[in-house]
Amino acid sequence: MTCLETVVIALGGNAILRRGTKGTPREQWETVKAAAREIARIASNGSRVVVTHGNGPQVGYLLEAFESLPRDKPRQSLDLAVAMTQGWLGFLIAHSIEREAETLGVEAKTAVIVTRVMVSRRDPSFENPSKYIGSYYTEEEAKRLEEQYGWVMKRDPRGMYRRVVPSPTPLRILEADRIKQLVENNYIVVAVGGGGIPVDEDLQPVEAVIDKDLASSLLARSINADRFIILTDVKGVAVNYGKPDEEWLTTVTVSQLEEYYAQGHFPPGSMGPKVKAAIDFVKETGGTASIGDLQEAYRVYRRESGTHIIPDKP
Ligand code: ADP
Ligand code: MG
Repeated sequence: MTCLETVVIALGGNAILRRGTKGTPREQWETVKAAAREIARIASNGSRVVVTHGNGPQVGYLLEAFESLPRDKPRQSLDLAVAMTQGWLGFLIAHSIEREAETLGVEAKTAVIVTRVMVSRRDPSFENPSKYIGSYYTEEEAKRLEEQYGWVMKRDPRGMYRRVVPSPTPLRILEADRIKQLVENNYIVVAVGGGGIPVDEDLQPVEAVIDKDLASSLLARSINADRFIILTDVKGVAVNYGKPDEEWLTTVTVSQLEEYYAQGHFPPGSMGPKVKAAIDFVKETGGTASIGDLQEAYRVYRRESGTHIIPDKP
């Protein structure tokens, strides 16, 4: 029993909200079901599993809902919005995994952990907040929000104004020990949703957003996971992505991937943090990281699909 492999699985935004759907409760249950089935298969294969997830669309939805409240109702802060999404998505994911496991004839016990992640107030991202969140505004509205709430507003590539917040590097998962203990007791744990709730060195909540792939990598390292799998909406990692000479990677050493990273193959807002998260995991643990298609999660786990990042000297 003690030698069971621990796998940390990070689910991308499309695990809960499929593109082209509105996101009704019913659609959310339907979408998450497919991901839950794959995870239940992985767990029933004998691996211990920790699931992490993004929350971009859901936190955006909540912020928009806050905006439409009557003026005399207080606005809730971003850390509270992230906490709400951890409960929302944690429920969807955990409940669905238990039900899918049951249909496979195995028992799965889940635990959802509201997770805090420490960041530094001295992180350079506080000088230059750049992560867009929430609704789109006109210049006039943006000015009003800056004055009213002290938000930092920036013009986005579409020419509208949006709030920007820092995206600091995750330093420590506050609940890591508890998560590890639950995993060792064979619970399937859902944790660090949306990258976790950021708190500073003095444990004060911070208005910021932590990248979910970087936070998931830190969690995987903190609990000594054997494998780290990032699931998204493409079949893996490509060099020259979207160009005529595009090439999908199957197995790649961490040094080779670092070289591609330095050459600029992976953009900051999408594949960049996933590749960085994978590199950090493999370098620190000597384990394997995989990046692949959520719809094929079990095959990615079996290494029949996806990109697998291995240490230089296994
Ligand atoms: P998630 O919501 O799962 O975190 P993202 O949208 O942030 O996913 O990142 C996945 C996207 O990264 C893919 O849909 C793909 O369009 C894009 N992408 C950018 N560069 C690459 C690359 N080099 N290889 C593969 N996908 C890439
Ligand atoms: Mg995304």
